[in-house]
Amino acid sequence: MRNVNTAAIGKLGWIIRRMQSEAKRRDAAVYRAENATKESPFHILVFTMLSARTRDEATLNAVERLIKKAKTPSEVMALSPKKLERLLYGVGFYRTKAKHLSKASRIIVGAGHVPDTLEGLLALPGVGRKTANIVLARAFGKSVVGVDVHVHRISNRLGIVRTKKPEETERSLTRSIPPRYLRTLNRDFVAFGQTVCLPRKPHCPICPIKGFCWRVGLKTAKRKTEGKTKDAVISCRLRSKMTRNPPW
Ligand code: SF4
Repeated sequence: MRNVNTAAIGKLGWIIRRMQSEAKRRDAAVYRAENATKESPFHILVFTMLSARTRDEATLNAVERLIKKAKTPSEVMALSPKKLERLLYGVGFYRTKAKHLSKASRIIVGAGHVPDTLEGLLALPGVGRKTANIVLARAFGKSVVGVDVHVHRISNRLGIVRTKKPEETERSLTRSIPPRYLRTLNRDFVAFGQTVCLPRKPHCPICPIKGFCWRVGLKTAKRKTEGKTKDAVISCRLRSKMTRNPPW
């Protein structure tokens, strides 16, 4: 097994607090989404189902439009397919998601509540393991982690896991970090991934947790001489030598 960054795991509480405050300062959409959906497990489920392959701002707009027209599973179920599609327009794969949401609402109405187990959630159309774990953590306070692209990427860059696939990341995080951090890990890593540790060109120089990050998979800064002509390189080396050993 490859080495992991035990120093970062040991300081995870401090690291998460710094990530949170930086992402909130930069107005990460995920915190606004959390406020808008916190009232009901159904709204959390809807937001999570719609957010796949969609920016949080667009998802939030669609959820707010939907909630104005249909707040409960029975109201969503009663919407016509065309009406539901119009309300979800703007999120990725909105037609497929409208079908899934309508069928899921019907199942929830039959059961009388949003399922609070992994198996129950996985039985809903359009709900995979990541979505189910996020709902279990956010709506039902369970110590599980939903691993999406942000959680997978940042965990590996930090070095707290050394994995290739999100399922391995979920197993590794669940094994190695204290359970009290799992429930909100997705939210905080997503917020940080949207604002600082971006997929391409992360803001490492101003990152508040750079002292603990292994930056796994990131290229180091280009050497000063890269891209310069041979003469420019020689003169650059000469200048630096003269600065180190002045001739007087
Ligand atoms: S130092 Fe860079 S790679 Fe590491 S967490 Fe910060 S932004 Fe991400």
